[in-house]
Amino acid sequence: MKTFDYDVLIIGGGLAGGSLALALAGSPLKVAVVESRTESERQTAPAGARALALARGTARILETLGVWAAVEPKATPIRDIHVSDRGHFGKTRLSAEREGVAALGYVVTARDVEDAVADALHSGTVELIQPARLIGLRAGPDSVHVSLKRGEETLMLSARLVVGADGSDSTVRRLLEIPQIVREYGQTALVFEVATELDHRNVAYERFTSSGPLAVLPLGRRRCSVVWTLVPSQAEELRALSEAEFLARFQEAFGYWLGALGPVGPRQTFPLKLIRAGRMADDRVVLIGNAMHQLHPVAGQGFNLGLRDAAQLAERLIVKQGFGEDIGDPAFLHSYADARQRDLRNTVAFTDSLIRIFSSDFLPLALIRNIGLFALDCLPPAKHLLARHAMGLAERLPRFH
Ligand SMILES: Cc1cc2nc3c(=O)[nH]c(=O)nc-3n(C[C@H](O)[C@H](O)[C@H](O)COP(=O)(O)OP(=O)(O)OC[C@H]3O[C@@H](n4cnc5c(N)ncnc54)[C@H](O)[C@@H]3O)c2cc1C
Repeated sequence: MKTFDYDVLIIGGGLAGGSLALALAGSPLKVAVVESRTESERQTAPAGARALALARGTARILETLGVWAAVEPKATPIRDIHVSDRGHFGKTRLSAEREGVAALGYVVTARDVEDAVADALHSGTVELIQPARLIGLRAGPDSVHVSLKRGEETLMLSARLVVGADGSDSTVRRLLEIPQIVREYGQTALVFEVATELDHRNVAYERFTSSGPLAVLPLGRRRCSVVWTLVPSQAEELRALSEAEFLARFQEAFGYWLGALGPVGPRQTFPLKLIRAGRMADDRVVLIGNAMHQLHPVAGQGFNLGLRDAAQLAERLIVKQGFGEDIGDPAFLHSYADARQRDLRNTVAFTDSLIRIFSSDFLPLALIRNIGLFALDCLPPAKHLLARHAMGLAERLPRFH
């Protein structure tokens, strides 16, 4: 009988890969995670400071994984989402109270979630191969063989299934020559934190301006995290301004909902694209998280979607293994990919339509969107549906423990 080093080899120990490993940790499957960064590189990476808006569904999955208790004290609950259009009359408000929940979602830095996932991984039973980088992959009908570079050493390993969770620049996807479907938005996200004069009262603001959408998320006391989507030249111009000049421009775009704004933290830019892999599953390989899809951050859906990929995959792998069946079986992997398509399609369509509708200043469209916002404010069922989407509860939540 053929033997393997691992049942599941996860390439990438970021949010998606780490969460999948935790979801599989209590199962009889032999799992390892390969992560190229050292712990100190991860802890000091500037991108770790970005704020993530976590849907309620995400909080529930993190709870099942045993990490929510470490994340929750650092997370700021969102009790209202205020959506408005600068210079137009339409606005709408989604409210936790109206939805009968304590919070619509939470805001937390990516690093706080990564720390909780990394701590749980380090104290658990999953093997971590870190730092080591995937450099080669050969998938066959019975097993996948991978080569890793760990310092000067080359490791050769085999697995029944390889999961590519190695982010938007995925080596797994490249080695399998899986094409990418890229839509350039021609926009850049300018991300920063700002202190506010007034208490945010746990309100998240989504404001659609002529230059692009502006998300202001409550993060801690009198502090907000901002994702300002702009054309690239404007983003660069704003990034280079002095703090006083920058604050004046930002205050003008956002208004005085939170009083006088400032000071601001370091400003970072992220070019915005929608990237989807041409396929989610290949011979004994499956892609999850940003390796499969990279979304526009305006709707705050990327990690929420990636976590649902991980949770649903774990749920199916555990059941398949319980029946004593092959977890790398192509028909099984394709049925997982088909099952994920609906969530992916809906989330991409939701994010995409927000951007398309709200980044136009063409008057009829501006009118339609304002009427749309106004109508939404008067139509509780439509608002409830939007709220369920924002809360990450539009899809059934997977069970794996
Ligand atoms: C500005 C901004 C704001 C965002 N806001 C939100 C939000 O509000 N809500 C939300 O849900 N999402 C948000 N996102 C998206 C979210 O950050 C991503 O979806 C999420 O971090 C992706 O996680 P991942 O594990 O798939 O990929 P990553 O976090 O990129 O992890 C990939 C891991 O793989 C490792 N790796 C890479 N190559 C190799 C290799 N060859 N061998 C071994 N390891 C490798 C990397 O070191 C890394 O640790 C935002 C993104 C941005 C840019």
